[in-house]
Amino acid sequence: MRDYLKFYIDGKWVDPATPKTAEVINPANEQVSGHISLGSPADVDTAVAAARRAFASWGETSVKERLDLLEAIQAEYLRRERELGEAVTEEMGAPISLGCGFHTLLGKGHLQTAIEVLREFKFEEQRGVTIIRKEPIGVCGMITPWNWPMNQTCVKIFPALATGCTMILKPPQLAPYSAQILAEIIDAAGTPAGVFNMIQGQGSVIGTALSRHPDVDMISFTGSETVGIQIQKDAAETVKRVGLELGGKSAWIVLDDPAMAENVAAATAGMMGNSGQTCSAGSRLLVPSARLNEAIESARAAAEGVSVGDPNGNFAMGPVVSKSQYESIQDYIQKGLDEGAQLIAGGLGKPEGLDKGYYVKPTVFLGNNQMVIAREEIFGPVLVMIGYDGVDDAVEIANDSPFGLGGYVSGSDVEAARDIARRMRTGAIWINGGFDFHAPFGGYKHSGNGREWGEHGFAEYLEIKAIVG
Ligand code: NAP
Ligand code: MG
Repeated sequence: MRDYLKFYIDGKWVDPATPKTAEVINPANEQVSGHISLGSPADVDTAVAAARRAFASWGETSVKERLDLLEAIQAEYLRRERELGEAVTEEMGAPISLGCGFHTLLGKGHLQTAIEVLREFKFEEQRGVTIIRKEPIGVCGMITPWNWPMNQTCVKIFPALATGCTMILKPPQLAPYSAQILAEIIDAAGTPAGVFNMIQGQGSVIGTALSRHPDVDMISFTGSETVGIQIQKDAAETVKRVGLELGGKSAWIVLDDPAMAENVAAATAGMMGNSGQTCSAGSRLLVPSARLNEAIESARAAAEGVSVGDPNGNFAMGPVVSKSQYESIQDYIQKGLDEGAQLIAGGLGKPEGLDKGYYVKPTVFLGNNQMVIAREEIFGPVLVMIGYDGVDDAVEIANDSPFGLGGYVSGSDVEAARDIARRMRTGAIWINGGFDFHAPFGGYKHSGNGREWGEHGFAEYLEIKAIVG
C-alpha cells in the first residue's frame, strides 16, 4: 500500500491545509493500491507564495548553477529509475517492461535534453542596435495527465528549471505515485526551497485555483480539449500565458509499396502500445484501397498477436487506466458497430480470462473518415482503418480532422514520405519510426497551441525583452 499524504511545498513535506484523502485504484486488479491527499485552494496559495519568493533568486541564477542542479537531479533520477517505472505500472497499468522502459526513458530523455539545450542556449543576443533577452516567465502552474506520467511531468519541469522558472505541479489523481517519487528526487538533489512544489488533488479544485491565481504567470497544461478550454477561460482574467497540449486523432499513412503489409502490422501493433492511451497515437490507419484485403489480414494478425494481461506478467498490453476509461472505450466500440464499421479484430467486452481489471481487446475497425470512431479521440486500443485512392486522397483524409497533433508515414521512399508530411496540417510527423528528443512536439487546430520538447520547449517558459539603443 502506498500512502502519499504529504505535499511538497517550499522545500518541505507538509500536511494539506485541510485533511482529505482519496483512494488510488490499481487498474490491473481494481484493488485499492494506496491513498493520496486532496489539496485545497489554501495549499495552492502557500505553494504559489513560496514559488514567488524563490523566483526572486532562482530567476537570477547562472546557467552553471542551473546545470549543476539538473545534473544532480539526473544522478538521483538514475538511482531511482526502477522505482519510478514500478510506480507508473502500478498507477496506470502499463506493462512493467514499458513502465520501466519507455515511460522512464522519456523522463530521462527530457532531462538530458534540457541539459544539452541549456549548455548551448543563448539567453541574450545582439541584433543591430537591439539586445534581445530571453527571461524566465516566472511562476508556472503545471497540470498533467495520467497516460505518460513521467513524460508529461518531465517535459515541463526540466525546461522550466533550466530557464529559471519556479513551479507548482498538479499531477493526475489517477497516476499520482510517480510524481511523488519525482518530487522526492528533486528534493534529494538539493533544489532550493520553493523552486519546485507539488500538490496532489482534483483538477477542478487545484487546477482551477492555479489557473485563476493572480500570482501564477503561466499554466502549462496537457490533457483533454474540454479541460484545456476551461483553463483558458479561468486564466483569461489574469492574462496569463496558457500552453495547451491536447488530444489527437492522428493519421498513419502506409504507402503502396512492397513493405505495405509489414508496415500495416507495425502501425497496428504500435497503436496498441500503452493500451492506445497516447495523445499522438496513429489511430486512423490509411491504407491503399487497391490492397485493402491484404491490409485487413495484416492488421487482423497484428492485433490478434498483441498479448493482453497482468502488467507484471510478460504481456504486450495491460489494462486501460480506469473504469470510466474502460466504459468510454466500450461505448466507442459499440458506436463503431452501430455506425456500420466492419469489425476486423477485438470488439466489445474483456479479453477471455481477464474478468478483473480494466482490460480491453485490441480492436480494429474498417471504416470511413466521417464516422464518430474516426473523428473523436477514443484514447484506447481501437484502430480505425480507412482506404485511400492515391496520395492526394490520403493527404485529404489525414487533414480532414478537428485535430492535428501527430502523423506518420511509412514507406520505402523517404523523400516521397517527406513530401506528404509537408502537406499534413499537424504538429509532428514521424517517418518510418523516426524519433528525436530535440524535435518540437505540439498541436495544430484543436490539439493545442504549445510546443514542448527540446529547444522549443524552452520558449514556453521564456519572456522576450528588447533593449534598444
Ligand atoms: P484531463 O481530464 O483533461 O485531465 C488532465 C489534468 O487536468 C488532470 O491533472 C486533471 O485533474 C486536470 N483537470 C481536470 N479538470 C480541471 C480543471 N477544471 N482545471 C484545471 N485542471 C483540471 O485529461 P486526462 O483524461 O487525464 O488525459 C487524457 C487527455 O490528455 C487526452 O485527451 C490526451 O490526448 C491528452 N494528452 C495530450 C498530450 C499532448 O502532449 N498533446 C499528451 C498526453 C495526453 P484530475 O486529477 O482531477 O483528473
Ligand atoms: Mg479525465
